[in-house]
Amino acid sequence: MKRVFITLAMCFLLIAGLYAAGRHTTVIISLDGFRWDYARMYHTPFFDRLGKEGVQAVMQPSFPSKTFPNHYTLATGLVPDHHGIIDNRFFYDVKNGLFYSIGDVRTKTDPRFYGGEPIWITAQKQNLKTGIVYWPGSDVAIKGTYPTYYHPYDTGQRMTFSQRIVEIERLLQLPENERPSLVMAYFEEPDHSGHTFGPTSPETRKAVETMDVLMEQLYNDVRALPDGKNINFIITADHGMTTTTPERIIHLSDYIKKEWTIRVMPSLPTLIYPAKGCTDKLLKALRQIPHLRVWKKEEVPAYLHYGTNPNIAEIVALPDPGWVISDVNKVSSGNHGYDPQFSDMHVMFRAAGPDFKQGYTMTHQFRNVDVYPLLSHLLGITPAQNDGQLSDVRELLK
Ligand code: AMP
Ligand code: ZN
Ligand code: ZN
Repeated sequence: MKRVFITLAMCFLLIAGLYAAGRHTTVIISLDGFRWDYARMYHTPFFDRLGKEGVQAVMQPSFPSKTFPNHYTLATGLVPDHHGIIDNRFFYDVKNGLFYSIGDVRTKTDPRFYGGEPIWITAQKQNLKTGIVYWPGSDVAIKGTYPTYYHPYDTGQRMTFSQRIVEIERLLQLPENERPSLVMAYFEEPDHSGHTFGPTSPETRKAVETMDVLMEQLYNDVRALPDGKNINFIITADHGMTTTTPERIIHLSDYIKKEWTIRVMPSLPTLIYPAKGCTDKLLKALRQIPHLRVWKKEEVPAYLHYGTNPNIAEIVALPDPGWVISDVNKVSSGNHGYDPQFSDMHVMFRAAGPDFKQGYTMTHQFRNVDVYPLLSHLLGITPAQNDGQLSDVRELLK
């Protein structure tokens, strides 16, 4: 009897210890489109230092490697097929031509599109406060709930990068009973420069190096706070970026007739809605196109985790890396949305703080669905059902 009691007490202490070990304020920053190797290509003394003080790894995005699908995957631990934001723009009522768009504040802030449970809700349900600066999904009343502190992205003057840093620091200095345990913030660079000038351009170099300086300032200020040493600090992104050129454009109209489709969303991937009775004809024609992979939605390869969501079109077409689908002869200098296994889509992950090892480099990649269980662990909260696994990233932890 006594032995059973001692064993039970030890189990309790062990479990309590595991939870207590992770209960630390956590800051996570997303630098949109920060490719895994930018910190190698460009002069980034701070990102290098963060890796040395803490951990560094390469993270794979989920498919499609786009902004909203992946930020919401980071927030929920669910792949886009499961959380519902299957692209930045998609038809939800194809017959009536209605579509969700991140550029249309009405649909973007409609909670019906946002499945799963973002980490700020998980945290708030467990009595923690959250402060979110522009993270995609944070200005939407998901399940009727906003983050404790948040900012609408589309109304009023958008904060500059420097103002966002001031806001993050303000949140971390609120009186203890008002202070968020989780702070998440989003920055549009280097994605913007990557699209406009290409990932290897001097302009993208400048954007990456500017973010390095800004993040160093934030990190130093955070560490200098009275409780700064006890804060976990993560910098990562949603997807990478690859070079696109006018020589690598696929013109769908050279291969298929307009009347074979109801609608086409010519993006990465391209979603194609066949007209009645035209599916086979379309598939046959599309499969002749070089540099294009074409699937019926139920045949999308399992590793892409894409095809069960009702808003995904009957046909999914994905150009090879560097190729784009367009009916005009113009392309941006860089793009993303490709297969997450393509290395240019991979993302930098660096983190330091009380729960992370020091000077540790992970030699294999992990998937971004694992960030939600990781954040849950760092905050000492119980995660909701998700597609990730803490065990995949446990080696980053002390
Ligand atoms: P992408 O087309 O995937 O490169 O998307 C990047 C764009 O997403 C950026 O240029 C931002 O303007 C936009 N974006 C980022 N966060 C938000 C947000 N919370 N609400 C609306 N748009 C956003
Ligand atoms: Zn992005
Ligand atoms: Zn982008």
